[in-house]
Amino acid sequence: MAYQIDKFDCVGCCACIFACPFDVPTEIKEEHKVVIPEDKCVGCGQCEDICPVAAIHPAPGQRKIRKVTILEENCIGCTACARNCPANAINGTVKNPHVIDQRKCIQCGYCGTKCKKDAIVIEYLA
Ligand code: SF4
Ligand code: SF4
Ligand code: SF4
Repeated sequence: MAYQIDKFDCVGCCACIFACPFDVPTEIKEEHKVVIPEDKCVGCGQCEDICPVAAIHPAPGQRKIRKVTILEENCIGCTACARNCPANAINGTVKNPHVIDQRKCIQCGYCGTKCKKDAIVIEYLA
């Protein structure tokens, strides 16, 4: 699942390239367009928010995240989530439960792919 760029609407401004925390959107210089390689996109939607011509949309089946939290009782404090968070939104010390700072979290869900203990809880918009 990922986000997609409508190649007819894209004006090649590259705003999404700068907005993506994961360096996913790729410019096709010859075509003056940008594409999103599906296998690299984590579906955070930051690019959709920044695109000035509304050329970026969730792919079919891509759900928007509402909130991400850490289940204290499952977290062993391995730090994997914190080390991989692009927004530096996860606080905690080794072997102690970690906490997500909701003011910093961009709801990308990437931490959920790093946790081996099912401690990351992702809530989606309906
Ligand atoms: S949805 Fe997020 S990860 Fe995917 S291209 Fe857009 S900004 Fe990057
Ligand atoms: S969803 Fe997880 S990885 Fe993404 S910004 Fe929030 S805490 Fe960081
Ligand atoms: S990856 Fe999972 S277990 Fe490790 S610190 Fe983060 S929430 Fe806790």
